[in-house]
Amino acid sequence: MRKKSPENVDDAITEISAIIGEDKVSVKEVDLVSYSHDYWLINLNWLLKGEVPALPNAVVWPETSDDVRKVIKVCYEHKVPLYPYGGGSGVLGGTIPESGGIVIDLKRMRRLQIDEENLILEAETGVNGYYLENYLNKKGYTMGHIPQSLYPSTLGGWIGTKATGQFSTKYSGIEDMILGLEVVIPPSTLLQFKPFPRSATGPDLKKIFIGSEGTLGIITKAWLKIWPYPEKRVLLSYVSDTLEDALDSVKRILWRGARPAVVRIYDIIETKRHFYTIDEAYGKIVTVIIIEGDSDIVNVEQRIVESEFKGKKLGEGPVEHWLQTRFIVKEASEFAPLGVVFDTIEVAVDWTNSMELYNRVVRAMNSVKGTLFTSAHASHFYPQGVCFYFTFAGVPPRGKTAYEYYKEVWDSAMKATIESKGTISHHHGIGRHRALWLKEELGDAFKLLEAIKQVLDEKDIMNPNNMGL
Ligand SMILES: Cc1cc2nc3c(=O)[nH]c(=O)nc-3n(C[C@H](O)[C@H](O)[C@H](O)COP(=O)(O)OP(=O)(O)OC[C@H]3O[C@@H](n4cnc5c(N)ncnc54)[C@H](O)[C@@H]3O)c2cc1C
Repeated sequence: MRKKSPENVDDAITEISAIIGEDKVSVKEVDLVSYSHDYWLINLNWLLKGEVPALPNAVVWPETSDDVRKVIKVCYEHKVPLYPYGGGSGVLGGTIPESGGIVIDLKRMRRLQIDEENLILEAETGVNGYYLENYLNKKGYTMGHIPQSLYPSTLGGWIGTKATGQFSTKYSGIEDMILGLEVVIPPSTLLQFKPFPRSATGPDLKKIFIGSEGTLGIITKAWLKIWPYPEKRVLLSYVSDTLEDALDSVKRILWRGARPAVVRIYDIIETKRHFYTIDEAYGKIVTVIIIEGDSDIVNVEQRIVESEFKGKKLGEGPVEHWLQTRFIVKEASEFAPLGVVFDTIEVAVDWTNSMELYNRVVRAMNSVKGTLFTSAHASHFYPQGVCFYFTFAGVPPRGKTAYEYYKEVWDSAMKATIESKGTISHHHGIGRHRALWLKEELGDAFKLLEAIKQVLDEKDIMNPNNMGL
């Protein structure tokens, strides 16, 4: 993927070192290799063959918004590409320094402050996800944003990719938690969108940066909604005969106004994988549910769930199992050395088309030669629809590279999603890998995105080519 180094990059690195300090800049090979990729899973297959997708020319670690402004200014003047980097846990190649240049890792920017009178957290965006949530928990609060990548990801990456956590059915995605933002855009302008409970001051311009994946500017600070730490938690689980029954139950629960924090419905294959010790779940569908918050509200929500769920109650065990294993993702790294290609694909769709999408996507992915299995669970829920999270594994057939097989599976899944009236991404975002299909989903609106990019980043230094921009 790597093209030749940008002209003037050495001058830019020298200037940046002089302005923000040499201790915040590295050109060491070990650092360049570490920042050559993110967690896009096909990278694993490449890395095992000793290949990296692209190397940056330098890595910088700013400590303040002012450092960020200075770095952007130098890059702008020398027209050197700049790649914002949080935890590198993105799964679509979003931080790959494709055109060379400088990776800017925000992790040293991690100051936090709670405004307890207004339930607002002011946070620098390099803060690690686990650190942030743990800090809040110790003071009696939660943000409710618990992605499976809580440990390796950062606030900046969450906002950059428009992430969502496992507890989103109650607390929502990151986009609805943000009250205010601070962003640095080229040439070196610091924009501040102040935090208000709500504001009718024209279009909500800060939203342009949520999900912009480092292509428009660098998000340096955010003001976020927080909540008192839940007083009560209830764990419920069910086994249903069919996926339709389980989906329908959750729809009715949400329509009645209950908002369990976690709801996950596993299809037959994933039920076998995760709950193989439960005899009565064999060949069926397991759903795990967590309700949390103020005790009185939790009690009412529990009554609603128990009266609406079509299926047999299984008790707390499956939910406890889920809580214990929810951050374990070892399959991916176990499969790659065996020559197996493995990945996950998350999409969303309304209730009307939900079963059609599930069936079509599974069929499409299984029909690609080499696929060993495709499975799914429904992981995030709304009164209007649902997110399906598909997993596939396969061995590239003779004559095909790992990437060719991988791309064929992805193409088939994206096509089936669009044909079933779904959106191609629910929360992982676009990165480099999904760019092609973004154009297809947005149609003419993609031109608007290009126009915004052109205005904000006229020299195209911000994460060039990411999202197809
Ligand atoms: C095991 C695993 C589980 C995952 N589970 C979830 C999940 O439950 N929910 C979910 O939503 N995602 C999940 N992901 C995907 C990934 O963790 C998220 O996309 C996460 O938000 C990325 O955060 P990061 O800090 O690692 O970002 P990075 O990977 O460093 O960057 C991601 C993108 O954001 C941009 N970016 C980073 N920081 C900034 C900034 N300060 N300003 C502007 N742009 C910036 C980068 O340029 C890049 O384009 C998972 C990934 C893995 C590997």
